[in-house]
Parts: sequence; structure tokens; C-alpha cells
Amino acid sequence: MRTLVVATRSAHKLAELRELLHLPDTRLVSLDDVGVEEEAPEDGDTFDSNAVFKARYYAERTRLPTLADDSGIEVDALGGGPGVRTRRYAGERATDEENNEKLLRELRGLPPARRGARYRCVLALVEPGRPSGRSGTSGGPGAPAVVIRRGTFEGRIATEPRGRGGFGYDPIFEPAWEPPGGRTVGLYSAREKNRVSHRAAAARAMRRVLRARGY
Ligand code: IMP
Repeated sequence: MRTLVVATRSAHKLAELRELLHLPDTRLVSLDDVGVEEEAPEDGDTFDSNAVFKARYYAERTRLPTLADDSGIEVDALGGGPGVRTRRYAGERATDEENNEKLLRELRGLPPARRGARYRCVLALVEPGRPSGRSGTSGGPGAPAVVIRRGTFEGRIATEPRGRGGFGYDPIFEPAWEPPGGRTVGLYSAREKNRVSHRAAAARAMRRVLRARGY
């Protein structure tokens, strides 16, 4: 059985990726499972660069194949922000509620047509020892290739929170196919969300890569 490190300490994220990737012949383990205590910095200015940096950082320390993700929300009226600052939008230690409140405040008074937003997820895979090929992003001489897969989830920011499901911005995120004022992702079941989310799309694409590589 092969082992794949998922560069997270969140049991929720590990369980979610385990389900989305659905790799019955592979053991998915977290950073805590493999005893890595160091924390990769997350200060890149794109989702891609953060995911790639994290995958390289932990693959180097574990010497094991490593999958890292970065995700966030882009709001059209904020020129694509908060983007890579999504988690700390309202401050370094901001709660989900504080982030949601700040975003609602910033968009106050804007009509639905100007509240467009999308979630993005980037997954990066690094396999130590696998020679750089044409399919990956080279990190310089000797660096293993990186494979990147991405997913997006289009929608708009609601005018007030609705629902308690999911996490982060889900209570104020209306999928594009919902009418304004319709259901937010906070009102979706986990199963429903997993059919349509940015993370599900990226994971489906990465699953094809992993299966082709024998995972
Ligand atoms: P990170 O990928 O852990 O750095 O954090 C991404 C941040 O984006 C999270 O803390 C959430 O605020 C937000 N985010 C990413 N994916 C989702 C999602 O599926 N629902 C709600 N918020 C999300």
C-alpha cells in the first residue's frame, strides 16, 4: 500500500480529501501522522505558489509523496480580493464570523449583479525522487516535478448569512445557479457541496493524475 502525505493538520480536510480522492489502495496521512512539526510559511501572492511551496516544503521533510492545497475566495467588487488573504481577511486571527461580517460590510448596498465571487482551490503534488518531466513545473535543477490541478466554484456574496453548514464563507456564498437570495452553501449538505465545490473539482482532476501513477 502506498502512502500519500496530505499537507494539513486539519482532520476535517484530511477526511474530505480522503473521500474526494477516493484512492482505495493508498494510505492518506496528515502532517501530524508523520510527525512533522515545522510549519511552511504561506506568504505567496498566488494560490498556485502557496500550494506548490507547501508541497515541496513537506515533501522535502518527509521524503514522501505530498499533496498540498491552497484555497480562498475572490470577490469581483474587491478586484479579486481577499484571494490569498482569505483566511485572515479581517485580521491575523479572525474568526469565520468576523471575516463574513467584514465582507458583507464592504459590499453593503451593492446589487446582486455586482456581488460576483468565486472560490478557488489549487492542489499541488510533489513526488520526491521522481525526475522532472514535461508535465510539471520545474523548481530548478534536481527539484522534483510538481503537478498542479485547479478547481473553481462560481457564485455571489449574499446580503446576509444563511445556514450553518460548511465553514468559512459558506453561509454568505450563493452558488451561481441559485437566484439572488436563494440557498447559500451554508444550507447545502456536505454531499451536495462535494458534488459542486472548487475542492471537489480540483480533487477529481488530481485523482486522475494519481490513479495514472499507481495510487
Ligand atoms: P487555507 O486554504 O487553509 O489557507 O484557507 C483558505 C480559506 O478560504 C479558509 O479559511 C476559508 O475561509 C476559505 N475557504 C476555502 N474553501 C472554502 C470553502 O469550501 N468554503 C468556505 N470557505 C472556504
